[in-house]
Amino acid sequence: MATNSPRYDLHSHTTASDGELTPVALIDRAIKNQINVLAITDHDSISGLDEARYYITKNHFALQLINGVEISTAWNDHDIHIIGLNIDVNNLDLFNLLARQKMSRIERAEQISLKLAQLGITHAYQHAKSYAKGDVVSRAHLARYLVEIGAVSDISKAFKQYLGKGKKAYVTPKWCEIKVAVKIIHLAGGQAVLAHPMRYNLTTAKLRRLLNEFKEAGGDAIEISQSRQTHFERHSLEKYALEYGFLGSQGSDFHGLDSYLDLGQLVPFSERIEPIWQHWPSQCVSIKGK
Ligand code: AMP
Ligand code: MN
Ligand code: MN
Ligand code: MN
Repeated sequence: MATNSPRYDLHSHTTASDGELTPVALIDRAIKNQINVLAITDHDSISGLDEARYYITKNHFALQLINGVEISTAWNDHDIHIIGLNIDVNNLDLFNLLARQKMSRIERAEQISLKLAQLGITHAYQHAKSYAKGDVVSRAHLARYLVEIGAVSDISKAFKQYLGKGKKAYVTPKWCEIKVAVKIIHLAGGQAVLAHPMRYNLTTAKLRRLLNEFKEAGGDAIEISQSRQTHFERHSLEKYALEYGFLGSQGSDFHGLDSYLDLGQLVPFSERIEPIWQHWPSQCVSIKGK
C-alpha cells in the first residue's frame, strides 16, 4: 500500500468483549502499527469506545476512531456476525438490542456452565465472568477457564472438545436475526457489514443464500480483505462483492498479541471494489509519532 494512503483496520476487539487488550492498549497498538482509521467492533458491545476515544483525544493522536460493533446473529443454525460501522452509540434501539444480546450471553454461559458441571468441571460461569472485563461473557472466556484448570491444553481444544457446535457443552445461542441486526445498525445511522464471509464453513450454495438474504435485509458491505486469506478466498470475495453489489470492508479481527495476526495486518484491498470508507469524511491523512 502506498505510504501516503490511510491505513484502515475496521474490525478489532478489546476487553469490552473477548479481546485481550484494553481499549487504551489497543489504541497504543494502532498507533505503533501506523493505522490511521480504526474501528473497534466488540461482540455485542460498544462499551470500549468511550475509553478509547477519550485516550485518543487526550493524547492528540492522529487516529480516527470509528464507532463499531459486531452483532451475533442466528441464521439457519449458524452464528453469523454482522458489523455495524459509524453507529450512533446513543441510539436507543441499538442499546436495547445489545442489552438483549448480553442477556442471552449470560443465560447461555450459565447453561454451558451447568453442562460442564455435569462433566465434573465446576464454577465455570463464575470464572468466565471474572475473566470478562466488560459487559460481555463469551465462549472465549469459558475456554480460557478450561485451559487455566488444565481441562484442555489450549483454547482451540476447548472449542473442539467442549464449546464448539455439537460438542459436549454446546448450548445453542439465542441471537437476533440478520435482518434485525441490519435494521438496527441502520436506525443507529451506521452501515452493516457481513464479517468474514468465508469463515462460516458454508457450501457455495449456502453462502450465496446468505449473501442474498443479507442483501435483501439491506446489508451494505462484506469484508473482502482480512489478515490471512488464500488466493481463492480473496478472489471469491471480490467476485461476490461485484456480483451482489456490496461495498468492500477490511479488518484484521485482532483479538490479542499472542494470536498469529496483528492489528492492521491485511492483504491488499482490491482496486476493483468500492471501499465502504469511500464517502466517509476523512479526518486523518497522516500519522503522528510512532
Ligand atoms: P461467542 O461469541 O461467545 O460465541 O464466542 C465466540 C468467540 O470465541 C469468537 O469470537 C472467537 O473469538 C472465539 N472462538 C471461536 N471459535 C474458536 C476456536 N475454534 N478457537 C479459538 N477461538 C475461537
Ligand atoms: Mn471473538
Ligand atoms: Mn466474528
Ligand atoms: Mn470479530
